[in-house]
Amino acid sequence: SGGDVLLKVTGLESSYGRIKALKGLNLEIHRGETVALVGANGAGKTTFLRTLSGVQPMGAGQIWFDGEDISKVRADQRMRRGICQSPEGRQVFGPLAIEDNLLLGAYTQPKQNVPEDLEKVYAMFPILKEKRKLPAGTLSGGQQQMLAIGRALMGRPKLLLLDEPSMGLAPLLVQEVFNVVKALKAQGMTIILAEQNAFAALALADRGYVIETGEITLTGTGQDLIHNEKVRAAYLGM
Ligand code: ATP
Repeated sequence: SGGDVLLKVTGLESSYGRIKALKGLNLEIHRGETVALVGANGAGKTTFLRTLSGVQPMGAGQIWFDGEDISKVRADQRMRRGICQSPEGRQVFGPLAIEDNLLLGAYTQPKQNVPEDLEKVYAMFPILKEKRKLPAGTLSGGQQQMLAIGRALMGRPKLLLLDEPSMGLAPLLVQEVFNVVKALKAQGMTIILAEQNAFAALALADRGYVIETGEITLTGTGQDLIHNEKVRAAYLGM
């Protein structure tokens, strides 16, 4: 809390061969904020989050996190510092037990933290506790999304990256996922939420950024953006 800067990104570029997916992106996240990243399919949301967690290489630019320049810090070290990601498409390990999937998210943690953190995740997602010995592949899409979020929480995030958590879910489950994000926000977690479901994301976010072809084109409070005519036309179908 206090509203100090947790993440500052300047001039961030990232490419796939000759395709520039991020073209000099600038953004700032304060501690305790929930920030929505909205944009069309292919705008660069996933590339941005993967560049932050370090699994996608960056070209030019700088990433400052928690007061340090982490531009050259490896992905596993970024996770250790508290950048934890729930990836697009969930990517849980189907044949592995649900509990073992959660433990994968804790591999950077000291052993003594793990039982306590598991219980916190189970308290948040009782269905995962009930089914903890079963292969993750037996879970429904919505439950797998909860598992992916739970796995990220096992890393004790200072910054939680959620990539399209509502993707492919039925409307009722979409609401459940957004309720989870709301609960994490209420706990004071700092969150970046990349979503094509722009209305729901902006409605719960403190602030939002609109990303178009690898650049930030608009920013404001969630409410500002919901009432912005360009946003309404392009992303809210109004
Ligand atoms: P989505 O919601 O579909 O994930 P996005 O906003 O997350 O969209 P990205 O997936 O980051 O967008 O894609 C940004 C740009 O990079 C797009 O032009 C896309 O075609 C390109 N791109 C993404 N992944 C690759 C890849 N593995 N190889 C080549 N180009 C890629």
